[in-house]
Amino acid sequence: AITEEADDEVDLVERAPIVTVMGHVDHGKTSLLDYVRNTNVIAGEAGGITQHIGAYNVKLADGRRITFLDTPGHEAFTAMRARGTQVTDIAIIIIAADDSVMPTTKEAIAHAQAANVPMVFAINKIDKPGANPDKIREDLAQMNLLVEDWGGKYQCQEISAKSGLGVDELMEKVLLEAEMLELKANPNRKATGSIIEASLDKGRGFVSTVLVSNGTLHVGDIVIAGTYYGRVKAMFNERNQRVQQAAPSEPVIILGLNGAPSAGDSFHIMETEQEAREIANKRQQLQREQSLRTTKT
Ligand code: GDP
Repeated sequence: AITEEADDEVDLVERAPIVTVMGHVDHGKTSLLDYVRNTNVIAGEAGGITQHIGAYNVKLADGRRITFLDTPGHEAFTAMRARGTQVTDIAIIIIAADDSVMPTTKEAIAHAQAANVPMVFAINKIDKPGANPDKIREDLAQMNLLVEDWGGKYQCQEISAKSGLGVDELMEKVLLEAEMLELKANPNRKATGSIIEASLDKGRGFVSTVLVSNGTLHVGDIVIAGTYYGRVKAMFNERNQRVQQAAPSEPVIILGLNGAPSAGDSFHIMETEQEAREIANKRQQLQREQSLRTTKT
């Protein structure tokens, strides 16, 4: 494993929280992610978010930022956890007010708790005639999750992901949670972070979305991720703008790796391509040995 030296407290600056939306199918994960992505125009940012790259960063009216993992559901969350990466800082657990806390919701809650990731509850579809948000609060209380407005410690917000009602308030609550976490990073060092998704693009070669957790990633850096490596040829943000660098909590697409690493693989920067190649080869050999061992037994 590649170890990175610890940061000095004085070098640390605040970074945006990284948020995952989890919940039962049809409870509104995609609608919420779409609403937040589309309304980011409020912040007056030039260029809308034009492409799905697995994560996006929004700027609120007051200038604060939140990074969302754009793959709804907890598959990505668990896949990453299985690889030992903790990408998410905060989980939004979304529950439809005309339904109840479903088994998948319970699973999502269990995952967040196991990972020690703070949760903010979003009670969705509040616009529907059959909505009964207090029933959801009751369900949660039964699970020992007493929400704030009932005197508990869990933040909870009624929303309509469809109309946007309550979404600003939900973002405020997410940011409040983030403040308590005191999320910091050192932008003045070599980047480290995680692969969010990666694939082979016919025109561009291997394309990987990465999320920088610490340091700053630059075009020209030599990246190693899982069993693959390469020099970063170009980077693009979620607005399809070419960028030269990516700071902590900023997701970017990178071009130049010689393969597609798995979601949740961590990435590091190497001094030379030779060094990166050696590590990649070693990891590939380890993988081959491991798969040989599993086929034998
Ligand atoms: P997901 O499976 O959790 O990603 O859920 P979706 O976002 O795909 O939503 C499932 C369905 O519920 C879709 O038909 C949405 O249009 C609808 N929906 C989502 N949010 C709301 C809401 O706040 N109000 C209403 N009335 N419908 C909603």
